[in-house]
Amino acid sequence: MKLVAFDWQGSARLGELDGDGETIHRFDLPPEAVSDAGVAALIGADPPPVAGTVALADVTLRAPISRPRRNVFCVGKNYHEHAHEFAKSGFDSSAAKGAVPTAPIVFSKVPECVIPPGDAVKIDAGVSTAIDYEAELAVIIGREGRNIRPEEAMSHVWGYTIVNDVTARDLQGKHSQWLIGKSQDTFCPMGPCAVTADQIDLSDTLVRCWVNGELRQDSNTGLLIFDVPTIIAAISNGVTLRPGDVIATGTPAGVGIGFDPPRYLTPGDKVKIEIGGIGVLEHPVEAA
Ligand code: MG
Repeated sequence: MKLVAFDWQGSARLGELDGDGETIHRFDLPPEAVSDAGVAALIGADPPPVAGTVALADVTLRAPISRPRRNVFCVGKNYHEHAHEFAKSGFDSSAAKGAVPTAPIVFSKVPECVIPPGDAVKIDAGVSTAIDYEAELAVIIGREGRNIRPEEAMSHVWGYTIVNDVTARDLQGKHSQWLIGKSQDTFCPMGPCAVTADQIDLSDTLVRCWVNGELRQDSNTGLLIFDVPTIIAAISNGVTLRPGDVIATGTPAGVGIGFDPPRYLTPGDKVKIEIGGIGVLEHPVEAA
C-alpha cells in the first residue's frame, strides 16, 4: 500500500495512491489528525473509510510525516564505499575509530527540518559553504519497543519512505557532534509517499540519486553494513522506540564529498532520489 499526505481544498489529508499512480483514494480523516502526524495517524488504527477520490495532479504533497514527534534517528557510514569516501574527506570526526564502524553510528535531525517533496533545500552561504546530499531509505516504526532483538525487529516496522539527509559538511566536521550540520532548516526532504512494510525487499532495493540529471549514487539496500533489524536493535537498546519514529538508514557512496574536488550543492541545483518500491523524491536547491 502506498500512502500519501497532501493538501487539498486548503487542508491536510491522507489517502492511498491507486495502482495507476494518478488517483488518490482520500480517507475520511479530520485535517487536524493528519496535519503533523501524516501517515503516522494510520499506525495502530483501523483503516479509515474512503471519502472519495482525487487526482494526484490536483493536490500538493506533504511530507509523509510532516512533523515527526521526535528527532529523526539517522545512521551514519552504513555503506562500505561511503564509509571510506567520508573517512578520507577530512570532515569525519569519527574517522579515528576506522573508516568502517564496528557498531552503528547514530545521530539525529530535529523534526522541524522536514520539508515536503518539491520544496527547496535552502542554502545560507553565511552559515555553510559545503552542503551535501544523502539519499536514504527511511524506516517508519509502527510498534513500540525497547531492547528489541534483531529477530523480532521487523515486527516493529510499519513502513518506509525516502529522505535526503542533507548535510552541511563544514559544520559536521567543526562541531564533531553532527546535529547542527544535519538539522539546518529545510535539511530533511521527505516523501513522496510512504509504503507499508510488505512493499520493500530490504535485501534488494535500489537507492539512486541524481543531481541535475547526473547519476551520483547508485546502490542497493542489500549492501547496508548494519541491516534494518540490527539498526532497530541498536537504537532501542535502552531507548524506547515509538510508533511514528523515523530512522534514516544511511547513504551509499557518491555524495558530493566523495569527489575530488568535492561537488557540493549550489542554488539552482535539482536533486532527484529514487528508491525501488517507493518512488521518486525531487527537490530544488535555492539560496536562503
Ligand atoms: Mg545520512
